[in-house]
Amino acid sequence: MAAAAAAKIVEVRETTRVERIGAHSHIRGLGLDDSLEARHVSQGMVGQVSARRAVGIVLHMIRDGRIAGRAVLLAGQPGTGKTAIATALAAALGQDTPFTSMAGSEIYSLEMSKTEAITQAIRKSIGVRIKEESEIIEGEVVEVQIERPASGVGTKVGKLILKTTDMETVYDLGGKMIESLLKEKVQSGDVITIDKATGKITRLGRSFARARDYDATGQQTRFVQCPEGELQKRKEVVHTVTLHEIDVINSRTHGFLALFSGDTGEIKPEVREQINGKVAEWREEGKAEIIPGVLFIDEVHMLDIECFSFLNRALENEMSPIVIMATNRGVTKIRGTNYKSPHGIPLDLLDRTIIVPTQPYDEKELREILSIRCEEEDCQMSDNALTVLTRICKETSLRYGMQLIMTSSLIARKRKAHEVDVEDIKRAYQLFFDEGRSVQFLREYQQEFMF
Ligand code: ATP
Repeated sequence: MAAAAAAKIVEVRETTRVERIGAHSHIRGLGLDDSLEARHVSQGMVGQVSARRAVGIVLHMIRDGRIAGRAVLLAGQPGTGKTAIATALAAALGQDTPFTSMAGSEIYSLEMSKTEAITQAIRKSIGVRIKEESEIIEGEVVEVQIERPASGVGTKVGKLILKTTDMETVYDLGGKMIESLLKEKVQSGDVITIDKATGKITRLGRSFARARDYDATGQQTRFVQCPEGELQKRKEVVHTVTLHEIDVINSRTHGFLALFSGDTGEIKPEVREQINGKVAEWREEGKAEIIPGVLFIDEVHMLDIECFSFLNRALENEMSPIVIMATNRGVTKIRGTNYKSPHGIPLDLLDRTIIVPTQPYDEKELREILSIRCEEEDCQMSDNALTVLTRICKETSLRYGMQLIMTSSLIARKRKAHEVDVEDIKRAYQLFFDEGRSVQFLREYQQEFMF
């Protein structure tokens, strides 16, 4: 079960990592040096030095496996880089550590219960490294038949007749095996191995019976002694899958195709219990290892009291990820209650949380971030324009300023200029309102709108 699952899952993860210019696509890591000090500008990150340093320590604890079941809260004003820092942490962790990102509000829009949505997010953030034995078949090639489609395009199909000690077996060839056969230039009489899990074919040499074959130059072909012993060997292979992926694959109502559509629906508790039991068994037998990953919950104040208490309990579980939360709220009501608390998070959860504050940026830092974004968005901007844009960010918000990069760049392109200048920024600023002007506009023209 796990072998088939793992082979597919690698593909699923790769498609989700398609590079594009998103809000945080300029971030490639936390930008720390070897002693965990944050370099002022590095790996796309600017300033916010002490928060980056704190998250760097969390990163080390994760790598040492010493922080499972803990919670970290990034708390600060809007646009102070909380999501950016979480993204940087994910990049620094690498592909082998699961990282799941969700917004607190997401749990209300899914077609499943709130606790099921949290459970799925938690299980997506726990990796299971499974060691498996794969079967290797070794034999002498009797015949290879590869059919190319008549049109010359499309998938090739074929058959391979392989002789092991005392019998001949016919194998249907799939795309990967054909590719492998052609790469290895396998012919009749060659001794090969086939890895049954991956379809990889390795040519070991010529068989004993054909040792005296001659090659094109008339020279006697070099005799290669075929390894003796068993014809079927075993090799250890390692896959990393998440607990959620194992749940989905084993959930009879959904099947593994659900992994591709993302439509996994609710998973029955019995399935999860069974999987937990199986994973515990594998761990005892030394076949599997748990890798606690990271669950990032943005706008965590949007969770309600039920979710918080569910999360609090889940953190106590032995197989729990590191939960990183972010909020821009101060003292506010805990959703679903009439009680107020810091960040809208209940005190019992806050009590087990490490809080990392983020600070507003100064003008120099804003300018640096804007300049990195200009490069990311392939936009040339004059020094003066960058100064004006920085000033706008200071007066409005970093996010609004970032939006003006692309819009002013399009305006500049329209007048066939290669560089964005102050005029283009001004034009974009007039065309697109920031939040403050939008509110003012609504106040002035309130009576014209529908209620
Ligand atoms: P909110 O509370 O509104 O969710 P936030 O604190 O999560 O805000 P981000 O979304 O991380 O803010 O930041 C806004 C934009 O600025 C993003 O595009 C982010 O990548 C970028 N950014 C923020 N801080 C930094 C930084 N220190 N270095 C580089 N880019 C940054």
